Amino acid sequence: MDQVKFYLDEKDMPKKWYNIAADLPTPMLPPLTPDGQIVRPEMLEAVFPKNLIEQEMSTKRWIDIPEEVRQIFYRWRPSPLRRAVYLEKFLNTPAKIFYKDESVSPAGSHKTNSSVPQAWYNKQFGIKRLTTETGAGQWGTALSFACHIIGLECKVFMVRVSFDQKPMRKTMMGLWGAECIASPSNETRAGRDILAEMPDTPGSLGIAISEAVEAAVTDKTGRTRYALGSVLNHVLLHQTIIGLEAQKQLKKAGIKKPDIVIGCAGGGSNFAGIAFPFTLDKINGAKIEIIPVESAGCPKMTKGLFAYDHGDVAGMTPLLPMHTLGSQFIPPAIHAGGLRYHGMAPLVSQAIVEGLMTPRAVDQLSSYEAAIIWARTEGFVIAPETSNAVACVIDEAKKAKREGKEKVILFNLSGHGLLDLAGYDKYLNGKLENSKVPHDEIARSLAKVQKTYAAASRKTGKW
Ligand SMILES: *Cc1c(COP(=O)(O)O)cnc(C)c1O
Repeated sequence: MDQVKFYLDEKDMPKKWYNIAADLPTPMLPPLTPDGQIVRPEMLEAVFPKNLIEQEMSTKRWIDIPEEVRQIFYRWRPSPLRRAVYLEKFLNTPAKIFYKDESVSPAGSHKTNSSVPQAWYNKQFGIKRLTTETGAGQWGTALSFACHIIGLECKVFMVRVSFDQKPMRKTMMGLWGAECIASPSNETRAGRDILAEMPDTPGSLGIAISEAVEAAVTDKTGRTRYALGSVLNHVLLHQTIIGLEAQKQLKKAGIKKPDIVIGCAGGGSNFAGIAFPFTLDKINGAKIEIIPVESAGCPKMTKGLFAYDHGDVAGMTPLLPMHTLGSQFIPPAIHAGGLRYHGMAPLVSQAIVEGLMTPRAVDQLSSYEAAIIWARTEGFVIAPETSNAVACVIDEAKKAKREGKEKVILFNLSGHGLLDLAGYDKYLNGKLENSKVPHDEIARSLAKVQKTYAAASRKTGKW
């Protein structure tokens, strides 16, 4: 029997995060204010604590993981690297499929890798309370856990459609003492404006972000800040612990380098987490195919524009250079709630522009078919977001079979699906709808993207 699990000891957990901003062959463009000025650090101080703003803007290659953060991580890190031998056998593929299992965290996904340091840096800075948004509820749970452990209050605006589809997520947040309300809500001006215009809206991450930012910056005590679960440089930085561990574990498995690295991509953080350390290898000459996988229902990388756009619907965030469907875009109510975001992280977007990564889109039915195959071979029930990555993994493993190549495929199992059974139930009863690419909605939304500050596609042409 081939070895299936590859563990690391606590002492082998990485002590530094990897910052790809130090190595991108063509650096990402800076964020802009709505009138086209480069955002200065102090402009962000009402929203984020200074220490995290520093991290956001840093171009230092390696950044220390604070000792206290590592102590909290030991509950579940280093996470296992597993080999999907049962799936390989089922597919009768010569490919070797490895995956990092991030579902073992307290909240059930990779998101605690960033929620813990974000809460820690806020606490260091003297902050008392964090506000945030959540799509499928995973980031909300992850931040609730972190705030509880570190000693901060936490308020979560949860996208309406997920709030209704996944009520147990709210229970989990309550378990860790956080408050969770459906977005759009009546508590903020942004929420009230949307409700007046679209009373039946399923909500979106863009709307929930507007609400959470507004709730943070309007707190008169000055002790509330906002935390974002993906997209931003510091969030992607925190997630690189996944790929750094994977590099050590692959070595233990006797693998020099993977041929293909895959992750599902909502805002880009779990994908970047596994992919960025290997992207550095690629920049340094290694031959690796790197694939971010999005949902066909929200296809910003394959059908969007690379442009300057807001991260939220109300335009409260700076303009970020990214692949976007437009900040007004409201994606269809696909089950992979964590993939319903209109934009892609600027660092991932720039790496795509450079040609270091090649995005793909997967439709909802294919993703569920893949998740069912996974559950019936590997045994675990995966998150609907993760199943998009698995669909791509299965495609690549079949391709390796056709080509007769013994490729090494590595992917990130971003979370479990034990609180997402409603979607599985629909699938098993033949009621799950496929995600159509929302062409009209995309065209309408892209027409509103501010063209004044076009983001130039800059690249070296090497990849
Ligand atoms: C949030 C989430 C995602 C998508 O978010 P990214 O920032 O792109 O990682 C993917 N999988 C799971 C399980 C999630 O909770």
